[in-house]
Amino acid sequence: MTAPLFDSHMHTPLCGHATGSPREYAQAALDAGLAGICFTDHMPMPAWYDAPWRMRRDQLAQYVADVQDAQAEFAGRLEVRLGLEADFHPGTERYVEEVLGAHPWDYVIGSVHYIGAWGFDNPEFTAEYDSRDLAGLYRDYYALAEGAAKSGLFDAIGHLDLPKKFGHRDPDGYAALHALDVIAERGLALDFNTAGWRKPVAEAYPAPDLTRAAAERGIPFVLGSDAHKPEEVGHRFTDAIKQIHDVGGRIVTYQGRVRHG
Ligand SMILES: [Zn+2]
Ligand SMILES: [Zn+2]
Repeated sequence: MTAPLFDSHMHTPLCGHATGSPREYAQAALDAGLAGICFTDHMPMPAWYDAPWRMRRDQLAQYVADVQDAQAEFAGRLEVRLGLEADFHPGTERYVEEVLGAHPWDYVIGSVHYIGAWGFDNPEFTAEYDSRDLAGLYRDYYALAEGAAKSGLFDAIGHLDLPKKFGHRDPDGYAALHALDVIAERGLALDFNTAGWRKPVAEAYPAPDLTRAAAERGIPFVLGSDAHKPEEVGHRFTDAIKQIHDVGGRIVTYQGRVRHG
C-alpha cells in the first residue's frame, strides 16, 4: 500500500439498518490501518420514497453532529469526513439538491436502488428478476445511472453494476460501457464497492471487466466498504487495490467535494 487509504462508503444506525456508532466505525478504521474514513449514510428523501431504509429529514442535523463528534474525537489520528449516499430517482432531484445545499459535504455518492417502484437490490423482491428480461433490465438500470451522472448532483456513481447482486449478470454489457462513457464525460468517479464480495454474486462493484473499461476512460475510483457494521470497515481493500491497479486505475478521495489523489 502506497497512498494513505480511505474508506469512503459507510453507514450509521440513523438509516435504520446499520449497527455501531460512528466512533466504533472510526476505531475499526484505525485498527485496520486506514488514514481516514468518510461517512456516507443513506440521505433523507421525499417521504414516499424508500422511507424505512434511510434517515428522516429531521435526523439530518443529528447525523452531521454525530460525524462531527467523531471528527473531533479522532482528530490527529484518523481523518473523518462527512458525506452522503444519495439516491438518483427521477422526480426527486430538487429535493436532493435542497439536502445537498443544507450542509458542507465532503463527498456525495449517487446510487440507483430502484427501477420504477422496484427496489431491485432488496432481498425480499428478488422474484421480480425472473419475470424480467435481463438485458432490458440492465438497459433501464444504466439509463438511470447515466441520469445520475448527468444530474450534476453527485461526485461518484455508487456500486455501478448493482443488479448483479443476487447473481443476475448483465448478458450484454453494451449499456454499461455507454454509461461509463457518460460518467467519464461528466467527470465523475466510481465508488469501488467491496460489499459485492459479501453478497451472492461474490464480486466487487464494478466487475473486473468494467473496472478495466472505466480505467481506460480515465475514470478514477473511490474505495468503499459500504460497511453497515464496524467490522466491515476496510473490507478486502487489498483485493480492491489489486483489481484497480491491475488495470492501471487510479484511487482518489474527495474533501469538500474536491477530488484528491
Ligand atoms: Zn444501506
Ligand atoms: Zn447503496
